[in-house]
Amino acid sequence: MAQVITKDLRESEASLAQAQRIAQLGNWSLDFETGEMSRSAEMNRIFGHAAASTTQRFEDFLGNIHPKDRNVLEQTLQQAAKTGQDSDMEHRIVTRDGMTRWVHTIVSRSQHDQKQLLNGTIRDITERKLAVVRLTVEHGVTQLVAGAVDPKEVMPGIIEAMCTGLGFECGSHWSLDKDGALLQCTANWGENVPAIAEFLALTRKMSVPSGLDLPGRAWAGHEPVVLTDLGSEQGFSRTTVALQAGLHGALALPIVAAGRTFGVIELFSAGTIQPDEALVQLLKSLSAQIGQSFQRRLAEDQLRFIATHDSLTDLPNRSLFNERLRHALHQGTRYNRGIAVMFIDIDRFKVVNDSLGHSAGDRLLQDCGKRLAECLRESDTVARFGGDEFVVMIENFTAPKDAIAVAQKSLASLARPFFVDGQEFLMSASIGISTFPDDGKDTETLLKNADIAMYRAKDQGRNNYQFYSAQMNKHTFERLAMESSLRRAVERNEFLLHYQPKLDLRTGAIAGVEALIRWKHPDWGMVSPAQFIPLAEETGLIVQIGEWVLKTACDQNRVWREQGIPPMRVAVNLSARQFSQKTLLSDVARTVAQSGLTPDCLELEITESYVMTNPEHATETLHKLKAMGITLSIDDFGTGLSSLAYFHQGHSERSRRHGDHQGCHCAWAQPAAESRRRGRRDKRTTGFPAQ
Ligand code: GH3
Ligand code: MG
Repeated sequence: MAQVITKDLRESEASLAQAQRIAQLGNWSLDFETGEMSRSAEMNRIFGHAAASTTQRFEDFLGNIHPKDRNVLEQTLQQAAKTGQDSDMEHRIVTRDGMTRWVHTIVSRSQHDQKQLLNGTIRDITERKLAVVRLTVEHGVTQLVAGAVDPKEVMPGIIEAMCTGLGFECGSHWSLDKDGALLQCTANWGENVPAIAEFLALTRKMSVPSGLDLPGRAWAGHEPVVLTDLGSEQGFSRTTVALQAGLHGALALPIVAAGRTFGVIELFSAGTIQPDEALVQLLKSLSAQIGQSFQRRLAEDQLRFIATHDSLTDLPNRSLFNERLRHALHQGTRYNRGIAVMFIDIDRFKVVNDSLGHSAGDRLLQDCGKRLAECLRESDTVARFGGDEFVVMIENFTAPKDAIAVAQKSLASLARPFFVDGQEFLMSASIGISTFPDDGKDTETLLKNADIAMYRAKDQGRNNYQFYSAQMNKHTFERLAMESSLRRAVERNEFLLHYQPKLDLRTGAIAGVEALIRWKHPDWGMVSPAQFIPLAEETGLIVQIGEWVLKTACDQNRVWREQGIPPMRVAVNLSARQFSQKTLLSDVARTVAQSGLTPDCLELEITESYVMTNPEHATETLHKLKAMGITLSIDDFGTGLSSLAYFHQGHSERSRRHGDHQGCHCAWAQPAAESRRRGRRDKRTTGFPAQ
């Protein structure tokens, strides 16, 4: 009978063990008084114990619980023993071979042979738990990266999310130092334990070459590196301190995107790490995610750099300089600090271009930029405004000697021979200096006055510096500055046209538009036509400017036509110089044809004074233009010879004498007429800019 019972019992135990194995569910029983525990075979398997050992002390059992979960589990068990209420908990265990696994424990109190027992089941839930943790980490990293201004700022947060989610004790981020030679720890996170803090402090002091040590190997190999057991690993330099901090496993994860490695994340665990393909895959996907954010940031930085720096010299460009100057002026006003602005223009630079070629000239400009930058303190700014112009801002300017020192240093530095294509070249520069607050309180005035002073330096024989002074022959140098800027304005396309409607006073309808030129100087803002037109006439630049106006106005008229605006004529002023050009007729015909319009869409305005000085040529040209189908009008009509009256009456569609147009059509003319017209223009409907 006893044998039968024993046999049945054995069969029942075997069947239970099989069921437990299938369900991956182990069980245990604890005598609370003696501290003795019995455990099932499946529980042994989960903990990695030998199959034959079926009992253990409660303290030993607790020793196999993950240190971070030990206290909470013990409290849960005591609570269940005390109250008799079933309880459950998810926690980590450390298996015999040092691996961390997640289990679900359910406990229940029972009475057996006068003994108080605590019975528990334990199920291995590592896979499910890790899947959830991975999702949580991934989500956390995404959130952190998406909300980050700079990925480096969120690195400690990312490392913390990875550590707490995946069961690591601490971690670090490594990236290349400024020189791009060595890897350095730039961020870390760790459990709040002194030994771990010590380990991280050591990590922060280290520099590692690519290919060596843990981060160096991950960096060079572009693949995660796992160190299963630090105690027996070669090629890791912080073993002693790591072991003292209770760290036994490590892995390094390179942050890679678009074939480029941005950094390495190191993670350290209390337990040893078995290379786990799923974990490695997860880490790789996290790495790609972080890498993309670095990549995006890099692209943004590059775009920002391009927008604010000169492409030839990599120095700040005009817009960044102006922004810095504005900021400095704001600070200067607030804290009563002076600022000096130095305009530096290389002397006779065209000679370099002409003799060595443009690309050699470019290299020389790069060298000039480098030399000038070397003459400054870090707080000062040197920018390239274009061409051979460099501008320097000296902050905390207290006395002229501050600017004199920089100017002399700059001249001396530029005076050292340059070598381009094996040839020695001697250069010099002319420098104009204006200071805040004496010579101007805004960027425009300071730059303009430094420019004027620079022209004085040119006038004084070049290779010298001049301070701006109100006593300076302002007119002469302002004119020089204006003339030079006007030349550049043509090259840099700084003009714009405003279109002013011309109303037919009888019907109130728009009879056409008049193109009025405007010059927006990058530093001085809008320059009045009364200031630059006479200069353009004198220097002959008016011809180029006039051609641009004609072309732009015709093209704009076509754009309006394409947009469905009813056909109308655009009136453009012809300067006397342009009018006397031999190629005028063919130029006008070509421009109109290229715009795709017919000649009746164009009206040319000519000043009577020119017609009067050259009546024969004028009459012939006017006839030819008229024959082409172009409408003509004579400005200032009525003050000259009446012999032209027939022309006007016969060929111009409007007559100022009849008052259908108030005559504010001329963007350039004799100054008196211009200012008179401008006075009227200001009272009229404001022009509307081109689309
Ligand atoms: P000055 O002594 O009066 O300054 O005479 P300059 O020959 O230096 O003439 P200026 O300063 O008026 O003009 C500078 C010249 O630099 C005009 C242009 O031919 C040339 N330049 C402008 N931009 C570039 C550039 O990007 N590269 C090169 N190589 N030359 C440029
Ligand atoms: Mg120059």
